[in-house]
Amino acid sequence: MGDAMADAFWDVVVIGAGAAGFMAAIRAAEAGRRVLLLEKNRKPGVKILMSGGTRCNITHATDNRGIVEAFGPPGRFLHSALAALSVDATIDFFEGEGVATKVEETGKVFPVSNKALDVLEALLRRLRRSGATLALQEPVRDLAATEAGFAVTTSSRVVGARRVVLTTGGQSYPGCGTTGDGYALASRFGHTVVTLRPALVPVTVTAPWVGELRGITIPDVSVRVMEKDRPLALRRGSLLFAHFGLSGPVVLDISRAVSGHADPSSLELELDLLPAVKELDLDAHLRAEAVASGKKQLAAILAPQLPRRLCETLLSLAGLPPDRKTAALARPERARLVACVKQLRLPVTGTLGFAKAEVTAGGVTLDEVDSRTLQSRRAPGLFLAGEVLDLDGPIGGYNFQAAWSTGWLAGAAAARTG
Ligand SMILES: Cc1cc2nc3c(=O)[nH]c(=O)nc-3n(C[C@H](O)[C@H](O)[C@H](O)COP(=O)(O)OP(=O)(O)OC[C@H]3O[C@@H](n4cnc5c(N)ncnc54)[C@H](O)[C@@H]3O)c2cc1C
Repeated sequence: MGDAMADAFWDVVVIGAGAAGFMAAIRAAEAGRRVLLLEKNRKPGVKILMSGGTRCNITHATDNRGIVEAFGPPGRFLHSALAALSVDATIDFFEGEGVATKVEETGKVFPVSNKALDVLEALLRRLRRSGATLALQEPVRDLAATEAGFAVTTSSRVVGARRVVLTTGGQSYPGCGTTGDGYALASRFGHTVVTLRPALVPVTVTAPWVGELRGITIPDVSVRVMEKDRPLALRRGSLLFAHFGLSGPVVLDISRAVSGHADPSSLELELDLLPAVKELDLDAHLRAEAVASGKKQLAAILAPQLPRRLCETLLSLAGLPPDRKTAALARPERARLVACVKQLRLPVTGTLGFAKAEVTAGGVTLDEVDSRTLQSRRAPGLFLAGEVLDLDGPIGGYNFQAAWSTGWLAGAAAARTG
């Protein structure tokens, strides 16, 4: 075959050089296939570079079951993918490419170097060795079935492919190249796209005092999303006050209950700012302090457990002057203060949307994809992996693990003959 001919037809074309696309291309090329990896951006793996605050939280220190469970009931879809590339095998993959990893207290796995660039360079090295061809600045505009497989139309040419792996990601952080192109491409083959919503996204609230506390982090807060008195989601973890509302892992993790709600502005967040202390114990503590150190100001009583500025805000929300002496705390006032600490309600307005969502919830429905091979049940020869699928997990490396594993399995299956 001449060069021009060879460049016109490939065994496997992978669309999108992100986490899943790299793995799919590497796996298929290592199985001996001629592989073309097409990327829209000038640079590959942009999201990998910005992930985990540019440190890249590669995966989570758990076993395959831990990953499956983190995704809830849809997590079952990941069994075969994790059997193909487990959490341990993923870590070995990166360690094998010279990226030493470490586990942090939260269970998150990062490169020891704290550099996402090291993760991307490892993928690029392995891709190069695999023999796959990477083409940059070449967005795929169209995909159609042909007798030999597929015609892939890019911004500059049409290439043929026996098999195609769709790894275009979601539609959040569109500045990264992820503008949801894959959903439209999959729809052409009759795939159903489950409604797309931003997930792992900061939540906006109206209370003006929240913005005044911007920059303050509280390491252990319990957050519930409330629809009147019905809790829709509950998580515990670190919370960050921001000028628009709330962020931090605990808020990102409950955000899909807000973005997926028909009327987010009807919801409230209920914060328990001291989840390790029972309501009765907090009340008893305040009562004991009133006796033991009655001259102390109220804000000082709470200050060892919570930042001073937040204590002052809580007092004002409870209708108590910050310089009030503890001894002067009447019973109903104490109850109001305890309620503000343990059940602080904040009316929600919405989220920061796709622009600031770490992942997209919704996507190509899982029923239409064979989880054992990731082959489309609508278009034989088409495989789907990564965030384009209707799968989204919590903060902590779960989303990358799903992308690495599904990409790996899709690459292996697409490389199979027959
Ligand atoms: C700010 C931020 C931080 C994050 N941090 C973490 C973290 O620390 N840990 C974690 O587990 N997850 C994290 N995530 C989520 C994680 O990045 C995604 O789950 C993961 O990247 C999904 O992998 P993917 O391969 O499916 O898609 P992506 O990695 O998004 O890759 C898709 C690729 O396809 C390309 N593409 C799109 N359309 C076309 C087209 N038409 N033609 C050609 N190419 C196309 C895109 O340019 C992109 O390069 C973070 C996300 C964000 C936004």
